[in-house]
Amino acid sequence: MKIVRYILFALLLAMTACSRFEQVKGVHVLLQKSEIRQRYGGEMGALADELKEANVTHVIVPVMEDGTAYYPSDVLPQRWEYGTELLAFRHALRRRNINFVAQIPIFQDSYTYRSQPALRAVNEFGSRSGSETLSAICPTDQSYQEYKLQAIEEVMLILQPDGIYIDKLSFPVEQSDICTDILVAHSRNYCFCPTCLTSFSEHALIELPKTSSVAETNEWVLDNYKNAWIQWKTGTITAFMEKANKRIHSIDPECKIMLSVLPWKEDEYNKGRQRLAGQDVKTLAPFIDNFILKTSCQIPDENFDSIRLSLLEELENTDAKVIPTIQLEVDSPHEAEKDFQHSLQYFRHQVIVSDWGYMLKNRRYLNIFITEPII
Ligand SMILES: [Zn+2]
Repeated sequence: MKIVRYILFALLLAMTACSRFEQVKGVHVLLQKSEIRQRYGGEMGALADELKEANVTHVIVPVMEDGTAYYPSDVLPQRWEYGTELLAFRHALRRRNINFVAQIPIFQDSYTYRSQPALRAVNEFGSRSGSETLSAICPTDQSYQEYKLQAIEEVMLILQPDGIYIDKLSFPVEQSDICTDILVAHSRNYCFCPTCLTSFSEHALIELPKTSSVAETNEWVLDNYKNAWIQWKTGTITAFMEKANKRIHSIDPECKIMLSVLPWKEDEYNKGRQRLAGQDVKTLAPFIDNFILKTSCQIPDENFDSIRLSLLEELENTDAKVIPTIQLEVDSPHEAEKDFQHSLQYFRHQVIVSDWGYMLKNRRYLNIFITEPII
């Protein structure tokens, strides 16, 4: 009898472990935003208290932008003037049991873009000018990759985050978001800089023709070796992610990794996510805990959810989750409050909202966010 009871108990334990569903109520917090500075000044404890009251589980905070680190850094060339505020915020979150997730952009960096012209991404017409508005850096350069990996390591050691949110891990996609067929049709293909062309020809074992212009070479590649080109792009992005994963987990094996990806289904826009961004969730999956969908396109919840489900299908039997982001800045305040409430309910188990500063400015949203989702 005793043995049976033990077996039942063990079974029950196993079942609870399997069905354990980690709830995510995430929010982006940008300490630089004037709303945040005005409301809290340097009182990071007060900010953390309010986040706790809103039942927030994950706080996503940018820890660097361009050449500037928001923490005491030896790797980045510049430091933010409020040097230790982010550190204080990090500790305040830890004391309240809220996960601190450090957001790090990879291939977007205006400081490097200005100071190292050779790293500017090149489009299929051989031009670097299109990448300027995005400050888009070529994803192939090994020394830039190493610089970013060292920055990630430094963040791991100094801020000891519960999670790392990798952003802009992509070949440049020219519109900040791509919401219509027309915009997608006009978006440029990257990167055709000399380093990338050499890397591609070595990867695909293809000798490039000696044409008179860069644009002709690029056209030749896209006409004849489009699939190999896409494979090389996704391989480049995945290889970086594998390295980042190793570096992160060598410091903290428990640290969760989030990656923001283009919110498109696999076949949408002629495999646009892979073709343009170089993001293949299948090959990325072993190195990622949560894929994050973030867009400034207005997508109804049901459609957004079908994209989420389609990504999960692509991911098949992996443990990776797909979490949608509600982007408040997109909607006009009046009609959108009900939509916001609906979205929070619709994605109630795992959702991220951008951002806290916007809600402070528009308190009705904050009130909805504090009370929803009801599970
Ligand atoms: Zn390149």
